[in-house]
Amino acid sequence: MSKADILIIGAGATGLMAAHVLSSAGKKVAVLEARNRCGGRIHTLHNQLFSKNAELGAEFIHGDLPVTLNLLKEADIEYQSAVEQMMRYRDGKFTEDSGFEDWDKVVDKLARLKKDISIQDFLDREFPTGEFDELRASVIGFVSGYDTADPARASSFALRDEWQGEDFEAQHRVKGGYGKMIKHLEDMSRRAGAKIYLNAVVKEVSWQPGNVRVATDDGALYEASQLLAAMPLGVLQANKNERGAVTFSPAIPGYSSALKQMGFGSILKILLEFSAPFWEDGETAKRVGANLKDMGFILSGEIIPTWWTQSPQQSPVLTGWLGGLPAAKQKDTPPEEILQLCLQSIANIFKLSRDELKNKLIAFEVANWTADPFTRGSYAYDTVDAAGARKILSEPVDNTIFFAGEYLYEGPAMGTVEAALTSGLNTAKKIISLA
Ligand SMILES: Cc1cc2nc3c(=O)[nH]c(=O)nc-3n(C[C@H](O)[C@H](O)[C@H](O)COP(=O)(O)OP(=O)(O)OC[C@H]3O[C@@H](n4cnc5c(N)ncnc54)[C@H](O)[C@@H]3O)c2cc1C
Repeated sequence: MSKADILIIGAGATGLMAAHVLSSAGKKVAVLEARNRCGGRIHTLHNQLFSKNAELGAEFIHGDLPVTLNLLKEADIEYQSAVEQMMRYRDGKFTEDSGFEDWDKVVDKLARLKKDISIQDFLDREFPTGEFDELRASVIGFVSGYDTADPARASSFALRDEWQGEDFEAQHRVKGGYGKMIKHLEDMSRRAGAKIYLNAVVKEVSWQPGNVRVATDDGALYEASQLLAAMPLGVLQANKNERGAVTFSPAIPGYSSALKQMGFGSILKILLEFSAPFWEDGETAKRVGANLKDMGFILSGEIIPTWWTQSPQQSPVLTGWLGGLPAAKQKDTPPEEILQLCLQSIANIFKLSRDELKNKLIAFEVANWTADPFTRGSYAYDTVDAAGARKILSEPVDNTIFFAGEYLYEGPAMGTVEAALTSGLNTAKKIISLA
């Protein structure tokens, strides 16, 4: 290929947003993507296996988030409310979940914390075992389930900010799936002249100020004046012989230790489609002693603890979620075994036998993002050292190499599509302004 102005590694939300902005500004852009599709952690299945669009990765817009909503407006893509009834299943009973009782105590102690420590250390100090077992389990469940983080590394300050900032009342889904937004970015970039190469697994970046040469695993070479590295943190943290890992030659001083200081979680997301939404029917209500017609989320103590429906939209799909260290432990478990764990968890919750459930099942998909070589986890969380590391990683290297991704975003929407889009946008603007 002829020399590009800018090579972008990764066609996720970050890389494509940057490609869109840079190519619109007249830059000659080439995007190298390891998979045979764009989108990365956004992966909408369009009526392939499931009767409706199904999200294997990102699904919600967590709030009225400006960059995401602007982009949807630009692309003329609609979104709809996803505020859902939250239920808790415990000791054989369903109750509406109104958060855990001692939440205020935790928030109050967090507000008085002077020096950042991990949330595990915070709990050990302020809420010791024995007296506070239930409170500790609730906090750790939330940090694992929602932030998909390791409590021994997750920053108390960051969690405090997140818990104060999130607007749980403004949750949306993209009509037709997040994949539509990716398609828009892809189309706009291509229309402005960007080239997108799929199945291009980058292995090595050789660079000097003003010039980069990138080699892929099939021996192809690409050249440009600048590089924007938009692969996930999990890939950047991988050992050099692992699939997907990228070596920089010469190494960038300070980068490797900064990358290790950042946190990247683990996740398993599972989609199950049944012949009908059995949780809505009268028989289920009688059997479990609760009307679950409007059920959104269910939080439980089962092996796969969190489940949700597509409410308020009608759908026979249940989505399962296992985050944090419990998901990391299942990294090498085959999908069939994960399915059995799912069926057992749902059977326990809805008081059905596993065989009864299996007979109702018409499709399933296990998205084991932690085992995926081009993701290697879920999304970033802040460790106690993350702020310093992020500063180092956000600095352009000799105006030649730029890093971008959801893990470099600073603001209230950490780890989200908004974070990725914002990072891609801001980095593209930085490249343009430094030219
Ligand atoms: C299961 C799950 C559910 C989520 N749910 C939500 C949600 O509901 N709402 C929300 O806002 N966010 C959610 N997120 C987070 C959100 O998906 C991500 O923050 C965002 O999509 C990240 O975009 P990105 O471009 O930074 O990274 P990615 O989307 O991971 O893109 C990086 C790209 O780099 C490519 N790549 C990797 N290695 C190489 C290589 N060596 N050579 C070439 N290319 C390479 C990858 O294939 C990938 O396409 C979820 C994430 C997961 C995993």
